[in-house]
Amino acid sequence: MSGDDLRITDPVVKRSPAVADPDVFTAELATLVERACSEAGLTPAAISAVGVGSAGPIKRTPEAVLNPPNLPVDNLPIERAVRAAVDTDQVRVLNDAVCGAVAEHEFAGGGTDDMVYLTVSTGLGAGVIVDGRPLGGNTGEVGHLTVDPGMTMECGCGGAGHWEAYCSGVNLPRYARHLSQHGDHGTALSTDGTLSAADIFAAAPDDELAAATLAQFDHWNLIGLADVVHAFAPSYVALGGSVVLHNRDRVLTPLRERLSDHVMVDPPAIGVTEFGDEIVLKGALAVAADQVSPGASPSPQLWQARIPLLRFRWWPGKQSNHVWNTGGDDSRDGFRDDCRRLILPS
Ligand SMILES: [Zn+2]
Repeated sequence: MSGDDLRITDPVVKRSPAVADPDVFTAELATLVERACSEAGLTPAAISAVGVGSAGPIKRTPEAVLNPPNLPVDNLPIERAVRAAVDTDQVRVLNDAVCGAVAEHEFAGGGTDDMVYLTVSTGLGAGVIVDGRPLGGNTGEVGHLTVDPGMTMECGCGGAGHWEAYCSGVNLPRYARHLSQHGDHGTALSTDGTLSAADIFAAAPDDELAAATLAQFDHWNLIGLADVVHAFAPSYVALGGSVVLHNRDRVLTPLRERLSDHVMVDPPAIGVTEFGDEIVLKGALAVAADQVSPGASPSPQLWQARIPLLRFRWWPGKQSNHVWNTGGDDSRDGFRDDCRRLILPS
């Protein structure tokens, strides 16, 4: 079975609430479940299982999101809220990067039994497959590895010097502003709050500040990825997330060419996921299906039986002035990147 067999139809998309109130988030969740079911001609009670790919960190039992750097709430009881909305206990909440790793491992041609899915998007994180099995919990919070011992940039988690604080889509513009204020890089970019990661990538060929920012972006990515390789020894690393998907060769090439200089083991093959921004949804589907049919990946039979599965990807909403405009088809993808989605199979 390939990822193409997983049809994602009729996505229900809604921007996350900007208010710091978990009750508002969970009420929105229930509304989205009802809407998605209604549009699919199902009642919520007909849903057999739910897979959730969420921004982390994930708290276990019950599964919730605690103090997420990229959401304006401290404690989001996703599992409880979704269970109540669909009337089933078969709800699994995983870090979205773990879902991405599951999808790449289950469905992609390049997926291997020891691999990492690394996402560079609003945040930065990884899902890890070891001996064919995904490592759960908060294993892949690699965005909070310290790559800069100088601790220059503050991270959304409250720490400093973390990989995500330099290289995520939200933080790259902040980092460019820092370099502008503390360096001597000429630039035509506006370094106020409107600067986006897309602006930096677009300007880099001709702009000194943008080029310097991306040179450092490569540097931190190489350090971070080398740490990941030494910790988990993947034979394959799949890259994904908006920053990668919209700047594929610019992000991929330096990692491919230079990672071997930073590791003392065999460097992994590195590629970009073929599933684009649907990778987390495909992984969430596999997670949901595993609850209905443990140990088996989603099979065509499962689809033919039309066992209702609910997949859900939670995306952080836009935060204060961290406006993130993706390159290319930015109105659509920028919106989708900042949304959470509830999706039902056909
Ligand atoms: Zn951090």
